[in-house]
Amino acid sequence: MTTLITNIKQLVNTREESRLLRGKALSELPYIENAFLLIEDGIIADYGHMYELELKVPQLPKHIVDAHEQFVLPAWCDSHTHIVFAKTREEEFIDKIKGMSYAEIAAKGGGSLNSAAKLHDVAEDELFNSAWKRLEEVSKLGTGAIEIKSGYGLSVEGELKMLRVIKKLKEKSSLSIKSTFLGAHTYPLAFKENHPGYIDQIIHEMLPVIATEKLADYIDVFCETGFFSPEEMETICKAGMSYGLKPKLHVNQLNSIGGIESAIKLNALSVDHLEIMTDDDIKILSNFKSRGTTIGTLLPAAFSCACNTSPPGN
Ligand SMILES: [Zn+2]
Repeated sequence: MTTLITNIKQLVNTREESRLLRGKALSELPYIENAFLLIEDGIIADYGHMYELELKVPQLPKHIVDAHEQFVLPAWCDSHTHIVFAKTREEEFIDKIKGMSYAEIAAKGGGSLNSAAKLHDVAEDELFNSAWKRLEEVSKLGTGAIEIKSGYGLSVEGELKMLRVIKKLKEKSSLSIKSTFLGAHTYPLAFKENHPGYIDQIIHEMLPVIATEKLADYIDVFCETGFFSPEEMETICKAGMSYGLKPKLHVNQLNSIGGIESAIKLNALSVDHLEIMTDDDIKILSNFKSRGTTIGTLLPAAFSCACNTSPPGN
């Protein structure tokens, strides 16, 4: 099907060349005033100024949408989400309002552990249906590409259940979806006193199945005081990388403990959160030579709204 959109006030992000943008180039946003856009079978076939329309599109298609001086911009790419979950955790807001930190809430069984407990009791179909509704919602808000993490399973069965739901979302949705394995989100209660045992389970029981069933594109670790150290993150990521999973990591949400340096060493695709940054952290990430191709992803809203105590967010 061919669709022509006319009378666009601004057609935004009209770049002639496709290249990775860095530094100052990121603040440039090319656009065309009073534009048209021609789409053939879901692919952009042509675009330009309205005065070029007759020349560029001599035969108008049947399906024409008049934008009436509205903007047309590319779909959003949401590179960090936790939209597969069983239930929200609004009850933790009370603790938060009383002044407890995320680490304190997590220490008493809240946070990701609470999500894991809730997820354990929910069937895969139910989990899929609720995630599907959220996916539809973000799609209506303009998201066209999305990354979705596991991390509320925290057991072989639970993590695989989440990743299979994400795989099904990939198959059924028209959105472009990437899946991230976040088994190392926190330590489950059963391994509270045996951290190496859980890391072992991630590496030897979860990863081989994930690789066989092609359940993930990336591997993630919550690198944080009281959770996974930079060294543990490296061990887990290297195991994931041996199966072709690229690291994409949670670092510097609550403390700066060297996660950024370790992530860059691993050639991570991105370092996400970055709420707590030292001068050195900023120096490393602001210099292309020291940060390589690793991208910094800021998640400032995780502190100021629901994200620390109810998914999506942490
Ligand atoms: Zn997160």
